[in-house]
Amino acid sequence: MSTIIKTVNPFNNKPIKEYETHTSEQLTRILENSKKAFHTWRQTAIKERCRLLINMAQILEDDKEDLAKLITLEMGKPLAESLSEIEKCVTLCDFYATNADDFLADELIDTDATESFISYDPLGIILAIMPWNYPFWQVLRFAIPTLTAGNTALLKHASNVTGCALAIEKLFERAGYPQGCFTTILVNHDAVEKLIANDLIKAVTLTGSEQAGKAIASTAGKHLKKTVLELGGSNACVVLDDADLDKYMDTIVNARMQNAGQSCIAAKRFIVTENIYDEFLKRFKDKVAALKFGDPMNNQTTIGTLARADLADILKKQIDDSVALGATVVSGNKQDHAFFEPTILTEITSDMPVFKEETFGPVAPIMKVKDAETAFKVASETRFGLGTMVFTQSIDTAQGYIDSIEDGAYFVNELVKSDARLPFGGTKASGYGRELSKEGIHEFVNRKTVFIN
Ligand code: NDP
Repeated sequence: MSTIIKTVNPFNNKPIKEYETHTSEQLTRILENSKKAFHTWRQTAIKERCRLLINMAQILEDDKEDLAKLITLEMGKPLAESLSEIEKCVTLCDFYATNADDFLADELIDTDATESFISYDPLGIILAIMPWNYPFWQVLRFAIPTLTAGNTALLKHASNVTGCALAIEKLFERAGYPQGCFTTILVNHDAVEKLIANDLIKAVTLTGSEQAGKAIASTAGKHLKKTVLELGGSNACVVLDDADLDKYMDTIVNARMQNAGQSCIAAKRFIVTENIYDEFLKRFKDKVAALKFGDPMNNQTTIGTLARADLADILKKQIDDSVALGATVVSGNKQDHAFFEPTILTEITSDMPVFKEETFGPVAPIMKVKDAETAFKVASETRFGLGTMVFTQSIDTAQGYIDSIEDGAYFVNELVKSDARLPFGGTKASGYGRELSKEGIHEFVNRKTVFIN
């Protein structure tokens, strides 16, 4: 039986559209189509698969204004940020169009065989469960390499961005992908559990909360299916006494405030050494005060609403509970439905929710510490492991900490960001597996050893 998914504009709380979920009969047909598509798609030459990526890049480029509007309508980020998201998807397609052939070529290994090599074979149908914060980028970051490797994909997108989910399916069709290669399914959580159990689904990838990660990974584990998990983060942004604030202050504020703070790799804990602390706080406050809230469709707006009102409720509670433990509100902390005023907190201790939990919104807890050593020690006191960033003019000092970082990424004088050329992923409660680069295209393949004597 189908149910209804309703999308709502988080800026004005107006309904956008209603969609019926797929019935189990429809899902059975979708799976059969995807299986059929896999049999021909896996035989398609990699050069041809790469040609479709060039089509895809062109369509994204041609339609970027409309696609950006759809993102903004459904999840409330400013239009300029939505446009950048689509442009980043174009670079992703270009990257794999140029490199996939090399990444997927047989890799010769010298052994005592006459010939031995690794063959990278596709697995079959891969199920993707994706979030709303970058509704195009998160999906394409998985789908572009995974399809290019010869797999087919089913997408269960976050229900609040169902319009984006269907638009992505259309993009693949228009780019010339055979019918069944990429299908958006409209389902609730129970149906996902059943799909994971189905023999036709070979592996699962999820980007989302820790809670969703545990639920999906345990179902997949029960059925011995591989998973890739991109979960939450609480990246530290370490600012040392010699940081070049003239040059990097915009980057530092952006690291927290872009996408209204709704990014897994955002800077969520600012750890600042004492000699630069006062100057840093003053500049941070000034930059945050200059952010312009308004209709995200308006080009002047630089900070949008959160994607849903319940996400703002969670953030409010995390801040209020931290204040009860001694945090000071320097600015912000006002909520109106899904809008959350950018907030700066000081007097932070490691037992506060804003320090130990992921804060998915525009809140910046700023902690003062004695020196670099203490800063890196505090930075590592987290269950999460997506990334750490440091701002310092001493590259030697920054390099001295590389080995001690347990995260998936370490960025010096730059915010932690994804780049198609570099692997992306986390450790600890932030998940496992890698997306993007050569590593990402090898996540959903059978790395088959061939030995010819
Ligand atoms: P969720 O993790 O609940 O949602 C992400 C995706 O997972 C959605 O498609 C959701 O579907 C789906 N999902 C969640 N639980 C299940 C399940 N048991 N079975 C099948 N599908 C499931 O995130 P929320 O939107 O609720 O956000 C909550 C918090 O998660 C945020 O505040 C943030 O901390 C974190 N988060 C992290 C993201 C990241 O980039 N790492 C992205 C989004 C959120 P549906 O929409 O139908 O519920």
